[in-house]
Amino acid sequence: MSVRSWPGLVDLQVNGFHGFDVNSDDVTADTIVALTQALWAEGITSYLPTVITASEDRILHALQAIVQARRSDPLIAHSIAGIHVEGPSLSPEDGARGAHDAAQLRDPSIAELERWQQAADGLIRIVTLAPERAGALEYIAVAKAQGIRISIGHCAPALEQVREAIDAGASLSTHLGNGIHPMLPRHPNHLWAQLAADDLTAMFIADGHHLPADTLTAMIRAKGLQRSILTSDSAALAGCPPGRYSTPVGGDVTVADDGRLSLSGTGLLAGSGTSLRGCIEWALANLPFTEDEVLIMAASNPARMLRRPESSDPDRVDVDLDDGVHVRRVVVSQTTVFES
Ligand SMILES: [Zn+2]
Repeated sequence: MSVRSWPGLVDLQVNGFHGFDVNSDDVTADTIVALTQALWAEGITSYLPTVITASEDRILHALQAIVQARRSDPLIAHSIAGIHVEGPSLSPEDGARGAHDAAQLRDPSIAELERWQQAADGLIRIVTLAPERAGALEYIAVAKAQGIRISIGHCAPALEQVREAIDAGASLSTHLGNGIHPMLPRHPNHLWAQLAADDLTAMFIADGHHLPADTLTAMIRAKGLQRSILTSDSAALAGCPPGRYSTPVGGDVTVADDGRLSLSGTGLLAGSGTSLRGCIEWALANLPFTEDEVLIMAASNPARMLRRPESSDPDRVDVDLDDGVHVRRVVVSQTTVFES
C-alpha cells in the first residue's frame, strides 16, 4: 500500500455531489450538510458551494440554506469556506452561456449583490461574471472593495474588456477553456488574453472531459503552477449511476458510463461528473505534473484564494495511491470526519 498524507483538498466550484444539489428548488440546510459530508469522504475539507444563475429569490433561498447549514455545526462551518455565485451576469450567447438559464441572465446589480451578502452573512467569496455586461466594471470595483473576488467566465469579451476588468479588480478566470464559444478567431482572442494575464489566476476543470490532457497541460504551463487551480465544477449528478435525469440546471442531463454529464440531445457538458479527488486521480494519470505540483493546484493555491494559509489549516487527508486515489482518513479542524 502506498499511503500518503496530503493537505485537505480545496474546491472553489461545487454545484453538488452524490445527488445533493446546491441549486435545487427545495435545497435545505440538511442538503448542504449532507453534501459537505459526501465531500469529506472524497477528501475535500474546504469548498465553496456554488449558486448558479436563477431568479433573485432562488439565489437568496440557496444562500440562506448554506448559512443555516454552517450554523448547525462548527465542522460544517469550517468546511464551507464561503460561497461562489456563478452568474447571473453571463453572456447570453450559446456556447459561452453553457448550461445557464438564458431567461434568468441579467446585468450585474450592486444592489442585488448587497442583498445576496445580507442573506449570506457576508460569505460570498467569488462571483463569476462576463466582463462585457453593462455595469460590470463598477460592479467589479465595488465587489473587490468588499473582499469578493471577481472571476471572468461564461463570456465573449473583446480584448480591451478583459484588460478593463483586470484593471477594475478581476483576479480569476472561471473554468478557463470552457463556457466559451466553440469557434474563436485564432488570435487574438480572449482565451489567449486571459492565459497571458499575470493578474488572473485560472481555475480549470480537471475531470478529463472538459479539457483534453494536452490542452490543460499547455494552459497550466502558460499560467504557471502558482496561478493554476484545479476545480471539479461537480454537478449534483456527479457520482450517480449512468442514465437520464431531470435537473434544475436547464433540463434533461445524461450521465454516461464514463461519468460524462451532458445536456441530453446536445452533447453540451452540464458540469462535471466527478469530485476534486476524481480530478486529481485523472490528473496524476494523464498530466505530466508531479503529485506535489498537482496538490499545489488542488490544495494550497485554492486555500490561498480563500486567504486561508496552509500553516493555519490543519486539515489532512490520508490517501492510498494504489490504483487510483482512495481516501482512507480525513481530518477537519483536528477532528476525524471520515475513515475507511
Ligand atoms: Zn460554468
